[in-house]
Amino acid sequence: MYKTDYGDVTDALDRPLRDLRVSVTDRCNFRCTYCMPKEVFGRGYQFLPRDLLLTFEEITRLAKIFTAHGVEKIRITGGEPLLRRDLEQLIHMLTKLDGVQDLTLTTNGALLAKKAQTLRDAGLQRVTVSLDSLDDTVFKLMNDVDFPVERVLEGIEAAKEAGLYPIKINMVVRRGLNEDAVIEMARFFRGTDCILRFIEFMDVGTTNGWKLDDVVPAAEIISKIHQELPIEPVEASYRGEVAKRYRYIDGQGEIGMISSVTQPFCGDCTRARLSAEGVLYTCLFATAGHNLRELLRENRADEEIADLLRNIWAARRDRYSEIRTAETTPGHKVEMSHIGG
Ligand code: SAM
Ligand code: SF4
Ligand code: SF4
Repeated sequence: MYKTDYGDVTDALDRPLRDLRVSVTDRCNFRCTYCMPKEVFGRGYQFLPRDLLLTFEEITRLAKIFTAHGVEKIRITGGEPLLRRDLEQLIHMLTKLDGVQDLTLTTNGALLAKKAQTLRDAGLQRVTVSLDSLDDTVFKLMNDVDFPVERVLEGIEAAKEAGLYPIKINMVVRRGLNEDAVIEMARFFRGTDCILRFIEFMDVGTTNGWKLDDVVPAAEIISKIHQELPIEPVEASYRGEVAKRYRYIDGQGEIGMISSVTQPFCGDCTRARLSAEGVLYTCLFATAGHNLRELLRENRADEEIADLLRNIWAARRDRYSEIRTAETTPGHKVEMSHIGG
């Protein structure tokens, strides 16, 4: 019979498996220029057909196998996860799994005002909302579908009212585009229930035209903020925490820095990613993955999938961000909207 606890499985670099990011769709209602540029993800783009998407039952079955190997945290992502119909059903199913201590979701916030309460009622604990600027002109330039800031803020309010705490706000900072918004965003969210996290623009996928010159290094962002609003570092709360934490010295809360480019954190990377079509990736920058959907649909036993997962994780050597400059392999990296952030 399938065991429900295999204990920890560690990879070739001694990193346990703790987090699972599940992409529930490769579609999105935004066309953020750093993620799904319109020139590539335009009208003719072929998104995954419905029958290739994992069903909620399939996702839950896989999530159970992952939790048996040490996964404690599940993040639902995409594409835009709130586009997936009846998502709250999946949330509800995942809350029933043993061992899940943290169940959360990353969204662009466009549909959050409508869905926050339903998600909370289904058992979602908290949300991360992406917002790159408070200025409509800049934000619209970045989402490229003319979506106004105000509606994302309404989504954040609705999440607060529904009790989806603490809310994290993700801001991707891109040189020459929204770098001037850093202080305004910091001021806006400090002293609220939201933790703002600054993300260095990353070279995910192959379509976003990434250049090192477009990256605003975390150190620069920290120093900019510190000059205006003094901050100090805070100890990480657990191994594998992606964001480096800082607190305002005057007690007005915290911010985070996700500096995947200038200060990579591969040494503590405990994350696995499952694409919407059921392919397992062991790194955000992977060029290939392992198709678990096929195994599910061939009616393989959970035990067999569990064995495969153990072997895949045990062999994992990914540390793309650490070797990015020196020896990054060319290849067709999977897109962010496919694999999930
Ligand atoms: N659509 C949802 C959203 O935007 O929150 C969830 C998926 S999105 C791929 C997850 C996160 O990845 C978002 O916070 C987004 O800003 C971030 N992201 C996407 N492309 C990125 C890039 N090239 N560099 C850094 N972060 C990126
Ligand atoms: Fe969509 Fe999120 Fe990518 Fe923006 S970052 S295009 S909202 S998936
Ligand atoms: Fe993890 Fe890959 Fe990112 Fe390194 S580059 S932190 S291994 S996802």
